[in-house]
Amino acid sequence: MKIGILSRKAELYSTRRLVEAARDRDHEVRVLNPLRCYMDITSHHPEIHYKGEKLQGFDAIIPRIGASITFYGTAVVRQFEMIGVFCLNESVAISRSRDKLRSLQLLARKGLGLPVTGFAHSTQYTDDLISLVGGAPLVVKMIEGTQGVGVVLAETDKAAQSVIQAFRSLKANILVQEYIKESSGRDIRCWVIGDKVVAAMLRQGPEGEFRSNLHRGGRAETIRITPEERSTAVRAAKIMGLRVAGVDMLRSNHGPVIMEVNSSPGLEGIEKTTGKDVAGMVIAYIEKNAAPGKTRTKGRG
Ligand code: ADP
Ligand code: MG
Repeated sequence: MKIGILSRKAELYSTRRLVEAARDRDHEVRVLNPLRCYMDITSHHPEIHYKGEKLQGFDAIIPRIGASITFYGTAVVRQFEMIGVFCLNESVAISRSRDKLRSLQLLARKGLGLPVTGFAHSTQYTDDLISLVGGAPLVVKMIEGTQGVGVVLAETDKAAQSVIQAFRSLKANILVQEYIKESSGRDIRCWVIGDKVVAAMLRQGPEGEFRSNLHRGGRAETIRITPEERSTAVRAAKIMGLRVAGVDMLRSNHGPVIMEVNSSPGLEGIEKTTGKDVAGMVIAYIEKNAAPGKTRTKGRG
């Protein structure tokens, strides 16, 4: 097969591993920087060009679209869909998963476990917002944050009020969430491919830190997840419409609760922690499932 990886950096661990896994399995593979793709969207034969050349003959595309280029990156994925190329994750699903509020609303609608969550833009009714989610301790998050930045634990109602007011003055969209104390700085990352969790790891924040992000000095270890956690992760990916996803959840007293669903989950943490060839499993999934025109949306959405 001829596989394209949409990634801005060929030297990133995840990109390198996917290239390696594809070559190991005798596929032709090319890393394409989505920002360098340009397209003819009007013709009856939609085209994508790259550095002066028309891209053709691809059987599958693996989108690895960074959060900062979601807008242009998903347009390129959509164009590949229009041409009929199998895209591992489709453009609508990627866009959907990038919007935290939309994602949480969709998951809640389908009855998945979430921490009690409220959201607001610039309410003056801070007290009411706090009581809506059950009072302190609370976690306040800026919607646009990643890697734990903009995620604050407020231990008292007073602290929560100051934090919410501070975010309000920044005119940020915020999410106010029940603090899942019993997870004590740990979360679980489930790597989903198709309808399976192929690998999972437990991440633990450093001493005294409630955020488990590896970028914040957290460490990871392997974990045996429960059947309920397994089915929650698979359902979450399905609801988001993602064939491949990193589903993050906390272990709460009332079962697994979802934090977020990532459409371009990293390979380094999960492969180094579990010793599994996750990149190889991604390519194996593509071999089984990629067929011309097999996109559900054909560029719609
Ligand atoms: P980001 O997108 O920046 O990673 P997250 O929502 O994943 O933001 O939060 C970062 C980390 O903070 C989580 O991985 C988790 O360890 C911790 N955390 C977030 N929300 C809660 C919560 N409601 N209760 C307990 N811990 C939380
Ligand atoms: Mg996170």
